[in-house]
Amino acid sequence: MIIGSGPAGYTAAIYTARANLSPVLYEGLQPGGQLTTTSEIENFPGYPDGVSGFDMMEDLKRQAQKFGTDVRAGTITKVDFSKRPFKITADDNTEIIAETVIIATGAVAKYLGLKSEKQFIGMGVSACATCDGFFYKGKDVAVAGGGDTACEEASYLAGIANKVYMIVRRDIFRASKSMQKRVMNNPKIEILWNHNTLEVLGDQSGVTGIKLLNNKTNEEKIINIHGFFLAVGHTPNSKIFKDFIDTDETGYIITKQGSTQTNILGVFACGDVQDPIYRQAVTAVGTGCMAAKDVESFLAENE
Ligand code: NAP
Repeated sequence: MIIGSGPAGYTAAIYTARANLSPVLYEGLQPGGQLTTTSEIENFPGYPDGVSGFDMMEDLKRQAQKFGTDVRAGTITKVDFSKRPFKITADDNTEIIAETVIIATGAVAKYLGLKSEKQFIGMGVSACATCDGFFYKGKDVAVAGGGDTACEEASYLAGIANKVYMIVRRDIFRASKSMQKRVMNNPKIEILWNHNTLEVLGDQSGVTGIKLLNNKTNEEKIINIHGFFLAVGHTPNSKIFKDFIDTDETGYIITKQGSTQTNILGVFACGDVQDPIYRQAVTAVGTGCMAAKDVESFLAENE
């Protein structure tokens, strides 16, 4: 049983299907995972001209199905890992019995936690520039965050919007040097260092601005924008496993070093749900392969 349809889940599916282990894969709430919201992937080895995240995920799904993976639309709502075989419930009504489980549920974007931010989700507040950027053609927008995602989103939005503000809470980026260069060299992007977002402002038409605090000078100011994009990191999707599976304080599943084995024998985890550090498509693919190989060995040893 494979839970999740990102690069980790599909890679685990390809390997377990080819090993004749009859994988069933549940796609979850976001079929294809986070990569389906990425415009162009330029750093996945083997694609010198880049590849769209959506196309890559479609290809991975096709490849998994070609070797016999039973790919199902639906979400896992409950698990019982108290004994083998494991009991997994999909959409509150379908029970699946599995000898082994691979958790590949990924992570979701974080929000700042402002009341006003929630109020305007879908009305100017977004965590996905490639999904929603189009609505801000010729307008002014802001991106909160200073990591690779924030830089990527800001660069993407600069190609659509009139102006892009980057709201960075420190005076340095967390992003890689090449990403930093990309935003610093873009005349449409203005970086506001040492700024925190205090409030999202708006009316019935949607977002009209944000109130900012300069955390060095304590000065507050308002900038007028129509789109506010969050790029402040991610939360792993591990909540439904919490009664059985050990995680760190953020919720990332803990796996045995050098393997994908969780604290429950026969349950494995791969991809972003167990990776607070690398979080790349290519590392997710790598750990997906590891999980499949771990399942294969486990089944051989525990027949
Ligand atoms: P990240 O690296 O964790 O960066 C999060 C950013 O948001 C940091 O600048 C952080 O500030 C800021 N932040 C966090 N909480 C905040 C808050 N409450 N208020 C204001 N700012 C806040 O997350 P990410 O950018 O999503 O990247 C995740 C991983 O994916 C990274 O490993 C990254 O390299 C990778 N990634 C790679 C690519 C690529 O290679 N094409 C693209 C996207 C992502 P501080 O620095 O002050 O903590």
